[in-house]
Amino acid sequence: MRFDVIVIGGGMSAIMCGIALATSGKRVALMVKGQSKLNFSSGSIDLLGYDEDGNEVEHPLDVIESLSPRHPYSKMGLANVVHNAAMAPVILEGAGLSFYGRSSDRNHYRMTPLGLLRPTWLTLDDYVAIDSQKTLSWNKVTVVSMHSFLDFPADFIASSFTRLGMECDVCDIKLGTVDKLTSNPTVMRSTAVAKLMQNDGVLNDFARKIRSKVGDAEMVVLPAVFGLDGDDTIQKIAKQIKLPVRFVSTLPPSVAGTRLLSKLRKRFVQNGGTFLLGSMVKTGKMAGGRVLSVQAKNFPDQDIEADHFVLATGSFMNGGLMSNSAGIREPIFGLDVEYLENRGEWSKENLFDAQPYMEFGVKTDNEFHAIKDGQPIENLYAIGSILSGHNSLKLADDTGVAMLTALQVARQI
Ligand SMILES: Cc1cc2nc3c(=O)[nH]c(=O)nc-3n(C[C@H](O)[C@H](O)[C@H](O)COP(=O)(O)OP(=O)(O)OC[C@H]3O[C@@H](n4cnc5c(N)ncnc54)[C@H](O)[C@@H]3O)c2cc1C
Repeated sequence: MRFDVIVIGGGMSAIMCGIALATSGKRVALMVKGQSKLNFSSGSIDLLGYDEDGNEVEHPLDVIESLSPRHPYSKMGLANVVHNAAMAPVILEGAGLSFYGRSSDRNHYRMTPLGLLRPTWLTLDDYVAIDSQKTLSWNKVTVVSMHSFLDFPADFIASSFTRLGMECDVCDIKLGTVDKLTSNPTVMRSTAVAKLMQNDGVLNDFARKIRSKVGDAEMVVLPAVFGLDGDDTIQKIAKQIKLPVRFVSTLPPSVAGTRLLSKLRKRFVQNGGTFLLGSMVKTGKMAGGRVLSVQAKNFPDQDIEADHFVLATGSFMNGGLMSNSAGIREPIFGLDVEYLENRGEWSKENLFDAQPYMEFGVKTDNEFHAIKDGQPIENLYAIGSILSGHNSLKLADDTGVAMLTALQVARQI
């Protein structure tokens, strides 16, 4: 098997890179082992929420040049950040996704499943997004809680609206079909509830009960358990409630993230890309400072060849990086990894401190060529959260880094 480009991974970075390459006419394959972090993501995309001193950022582009030179945004430079940040929403819209906050020069706030406000760049259109003046167009809001569904703490969310100066109440809706899921706690998750909502009878019953309880609310906030099937159930529930509706993400797994992923996958295939799902890449063959081919668990004895390779395997969570008592390694190519030698310095005792291990990742040059034994590999790039040099929890920049490095590398290829 031979392609122009092989991208290893199936998360936001891999898929953005794949779409950009396929659109420009490259024969590109995504080799994907399994789930990605998108399945946990809130429906908002962060570019840069905080600066390196921990201050909230209102205008991300003003802060890029103050980041450490090791940060992936510093490596690509401000002009490329601006260019790629303008391209990313165009690609997302091409996949049928629309967002609040399209411009990268100003953050707004998203609401977390625990009712906290976090600065972000793009928020799915039908989700709660609040601009930097902390104003919404509604004075009275009802937050709907689903009885026995514990992954949406409606009272926390309601108190956040109250803090914003809105009148807010919670209405609890009991649905027999949803209650039945509690017989197995591992099944009682947002994605299972979203599947139930694909049944018109269940959705209509839910909407009818909400209508009878919302009183004079001007806006209804629902748990994000709609849209697993595309946009159908989102449109139906909004139409039936007959009031403006906004969603807030539930605790993981995330229906919003799953919706993003499935639309982006569809777009990649429409543009001519090939998915090799269930393909865990085990090794790569190299000669003369280039990668020649990769080998995957499900294609035994086959060399899968390409002109260019892009490593988008994420960090520790999905196995892009692995650690043991000897250190930290990148398991496919054995790339150089930036980390602290002294294991005692990897983490801080206080869980809420910025954790040093979050900055560990593969080394690259400024064009994101991966480095092995001190030398950049001419046709192997690293993108997304496998990159070293930034703490994504502290800076709230992970999906921004994933998308922008993906587009930067796609343009270089
Ligand atoms: C709980 C949680 C919530 C989050 N919420 C938000 C949010 O609200 N907003 C936001 O902006 N960001 C959020 N993020 C961060 C964000 O979703 C990701 O960090 C970002 O999408 C990075 O994606 P990635 O492609 O670099 O890596 P990943 O998403 O980790 O993808 C890595 C991919 O590589 C594959 N892979 C790994 N090894 C191999 C192999 N050997 N062969 C083949 N495939 C392999 C994996 O299966 C996976 O598909 C959240 C992250 C988490 C964990």
